[in-house]
Amino acid sequence: MARGSGGWFFVAKGKLTFNENLCKGCGLCVAACPKKILELDKTRLNAKGYHPATCVNPDECIGCAFCATQCPDVVITVERI
Ligand code: SF4
Ligand code: SF4
Repeated sequence: MARGSGGWFFVAKGKLTFNENLCKGCGLCVAACPKKILELDKTRLNAKGYHPATCVNPDECIGCAFCATQCPDVVITVERI
C-alpha cells in the first residue's frame, strides 16, 4: 500500500521469472520497462554465450508485463502479486 494525494491505494506489484538460457541479450525488454529496472548482466554469460537480462530492483516492478510482451524468446514470465 502507498499513500497518494487521494489517500491510500494499492500499488500493483509483479514477480519476474527469467528462463535465462533462452535469452539472446537483445535488450528489447530493457527498453520496454517503464520503471527502468531491467539490465543486461555484463558480468555473466548464459548457455548461449549472451549477457542475460536481469532485474536490478525487483521491488520496483509493477507487473505491467511490457517486458514479457516484447521478448521474442519468451524468456520472461510476470506474475501479479
Ligand atoms: S513487468 Fe513492467 S515494471 Fe516489471 S520488469 Fe517488466 S516491464 Fe518492468
Ligand atoms: S527481450 Fe528477451 S531475449 Fe531480449 S534481452 Fe530481454 S529477455 Fe533477453
